[in-house]
Amino acid sequence: MRTQIGIVGAGPAGLLLSHLLHLQGIESVIIESRSRKYIEERIRAGVLEQGTVDMLVETGVGERLKREGLVHHGIELRFNRRGHRIDMYELTGGKAITIYAQHEVVKDLVNARLTAGGQIFFEAADVSVDGFNGTTPSIRFSADGKPRELTCDFIAGCDGFHGVCRPSIPSGVLTVFDRTYPFAWLGILAQAPPSSQELVYAYHERGFALLSMRSTEIGRLYVQVPPDEDIKNWPDEKIWRELQLRFAVDGDWKLTEGPILQKGITPMRSFVAEPMQYGKLYLAGDAAHIVPATGAKGLNLAAADVRLLAQAFADFYSAGGTRLLDQYSERCLRRVWKAQRFSWWMTTMLHRFEADSPFDQRRQIAELDYLTGSRAAMTSLAENYVGLPWD
Ligand SMILES: Cc1cc2nc3c(=O)[nH]c(=O)nc-3n(C[C@H](O)[C@H](O)[C@H](O)COP(=O)(O)OP(=O)(O)OC[C@H]3O[C@@H](n4cnc5c(N)ncnc54)[C@H](O)[C@@H]3O)c2cc1C
Repeated sequence: MRTQIGIVGAGPAGLLLSHLLHLQGIESVIIESRSRKYIEERIRAGVLEQGTVDMLVETGVGERLKREGLVHHGIELRFNRRGHRIDMYELTGGKAITIYAQHEVVKDLVNARLTAGGQIFFEAADVSVDGFNGTTPSIRFSADGKPRELTCDFIAGCDGFHGVCRPSIPSGVLTVFDRTYPFAWLGILAQAPPSSQELVYAYHERGFALLSMRSTEIGRLYVQVPPDEDIKNWPDEKIWRELQLRFAVDGDWKLTEGPILQKGITPMRSFVAEPMQYGKLYLAGDAAHIVPATGAKGLNLAAADVRLLAQAFADFYSAGGTRLLDQYSERCLRRVWKAQRFSWWMTTMLHRFEADSPFDQRRQIAELDYLTGSRAAMTSLAENYVGLPWD
């Protein structure tokens, strides 16, 4: 088999890249290790920046997103039993975020690719990449029990943090920047209408909590837990009890409870591998970088990477230019590091650290107090949260 761009991974990065390339008349084939059902049901991110929404709508995969997505103009920061709304829409001159689950984005993109005749190999086994430092890049895998080889002009490594592409780059090429945090998030999906119309980020002496949602009927809530926490220690009643404590405010606000449909623990980590390219292998999305979820940037960074990569491939195939391909890593990393900074800042401001001293706690409260009282500080948060300009 032969194609122009061989893509490893059918997450948001790989699928969106394939879609954008198709719109430019460039062929691609996606190799994915999981089943279609699995990737279309995998619960992950849910906050889309304004630019990500605009790109999905403008490229023809935003119909359901426009119909079913929940547009939010603000978020709430809650501390010392009081809520403070950040009016992002007003502060950014009319930008917003949209709540639309990552697996719904994946469904829309899979549907678009298959309807347009795109090729995705699901449940591929023994995937490996080769030849990307020479002239013959190839992806080897087996599908339906048969060994296969896909040769291509370029390989896009969109196979997430645990994929094969990044580790296939020879040692010594990449520099890795890494930070693990001394806590994790226990997240639940609950059959309970969200108790707030907008996201609530709560700082509490017992730890951070986040109230988010997937629809008007389904809530998505998180509590900060120790990094090595066992989910077995968290029966449903204990989760609701903890959420009630951390979201408590003076006044008549009430946290609505309901059956918990799913629960899991996600570690918090910052990670960047530089450069995001080696020979004819280009990394995009979680394959190259991870952010702690507090800033809601993971999926949006993946979209920003493949936007640039698709532009660079289009330039190469239309005009033979390699300038954009050569600049790909540097241009992506400028945005990646800004998102890393923002995600780190939100994380350190809102979480309790084991080594916290009374000084640190008072400093955190002072920071929140300053932030929610200063238009300049709120504008900074708002413009990062809705998404910085593409370039
Ligand atoms: C549990 C969890 C919860 C998260 N929650 C949030 C959140 O609330 N907010 C937020 O902003 N971000 C969140 N994220 C991050 C966000 O989901 C990711 O940033 C986003 O999925 C990145 O997209 P991607 O396409 O780069 O990678 P992925 O979505 O990881 O896609 C990579 C794809 O490659 C496939 N693959 C892996 N290895 C191979 C292989 N060897 N061969 C072929 N295919 C392979 C995988 O099956 C997968 O389909 C979460 C991540 C996780 C893991």
